Amino acid sequence: MNVHEYQAKEIFSKYNVPVPRGLLATTVEEAVENAKKLGGNIWVVKAQIHAGGRGLGGGVKVAKSIEEVQKYASEILGMTLVTHQTGPEGKLVQKVYIEEGVDIADELYLGVVLDRAKEMPVIMASTEGGMEIEKVAEESPEKIIKVAVDPTIGFQGFHGRELAFGLGLPKEQVGKFIKFASALYRVYMENDAELIEINPLVKTGSGDFIALDGKMGFDDSALGRHPEIEAMRDLSEEDSDEREASEYGLSYVALDGEIGCMVNGAGLAMGTMDTINYMGGTPANFLDVGGKANAQTVAKGFEIILKNKNVKAIFVNIFGGIVRCDRIANGILEATKLVDVHVPVVVRLDGTNAKEAAEILQNAGIKNIITASDLGDGAKKAVLAAKGEL
Ligand code: ADP
Ligand code: MG
Repeated sequence: MNVHEYQAKEIFSKYNVPVPRGLLATTVEEAVENAKKLGGNIWVVKAQIHAGGRGLGGGVKVAKSIEEVQKYASEILGMTLVTHQTGPEGKLVQKVYIEEGVDIADELYLGVVLDRAKEMPVIMASTEGGMEIEKVAEESPEKIIKVAVDPTIGFQGFHGRELAFGLGLPKEQVGKFIKFASALYRVYMENDAELIEINPLVKTGSGDFIALDGKMGFDDSALGRHPEIEAMRDLSEEDSDEREASEYGLSYVALDGEIGCMVNGAGLAMGTMDTINYMGGTPANFLDVGGKANAQTVAKGFEIILKNKNVKAIFVNIFGGIVRCDRIANGILEATKLVDVHVPVVVRLDGTNAKEAAEILQNAGIKNIITASDLGDGAKKAVLAAKGEL
């Protein structure tokens, strides 16, 4: 789950990670009122959407008067903001954050992510703040300093010094920076975050560090122990198909290939996608129907998969461990009555009552249902079916 910038900054504040003062607004009047409440004479009007690159897309504007706050808020609220992270369709802006203008001396980058290979959180810092960090990683990777923190010992002074010296900070700023990074590490760990990104981390004219931007992503499986974070969920920012799927207990992630996948278990789903790739095809989605695959969930799965117009074939790969294959076979047949499945469906069922299941499917005599004997056979048939060669 991701949150908005203003929410990430709310969390940062609780841990004494410095952020500019700001107030959220959903109307132009409120934006003006907030600017007056904040005081000062420079404000920044910032579109709140779950995507970065807002500045370049026209979603972040510096206002030098209350009239400009009004002007920019009315331009930004209700606009469809297109950034390199939203895709060409963009995102509708429903909220703006009104923030005090900060005196920027230097823009740095600071992030914390989970490094799955190292099995540790990694803190990343760069002097190339304010730019797309992906570009920096590609073009000048030596400009990103990475320090892995073993969670059993936690963040220590030496981690901070390695980062601070790597950034070439002057001696008098090293202590401040270490304090900042240490607080950010706590934010990451104590909230079960998967990612924190501060781009830019600003050094002000007076030599202080402040988080000018804030992005946070959380481990969905840990949300149960953070009800205050779950309450920050903004469903209007999430993919509508993924959301609908999750309401039915299905984990669905859209991808850009041609073969729709319906699988039980995340591990088998990953293996299925790999095998499709290996056989020369491309998966259109990840879909884990979970442990209770029945006619309704299978029907819902077909419905969601088929909303994607790139899908040329579906591969159902289910292992009957908790569920019995004959029940799933009947579920598939029932589901084809509930949903108009207009593409070939390759079905591989293995495990308890697999033989009975194969008989049920064959006896049903439905033209576009093709049975497969194992994973390799199923993936191969799905690839051929998608090409119209089966
Ligand atoms: P995004 O990364 O989505 O473009 P940012 O929050 O990073 O959005 O803002 C883009 C740029 O706008 C920043 O790099 C900074 O130069 C400027 N900016 C953002 N917030 C402020 C602020 N409070 N004061 C001064 N400048 C700001
Ligand atoms: Mg940014």
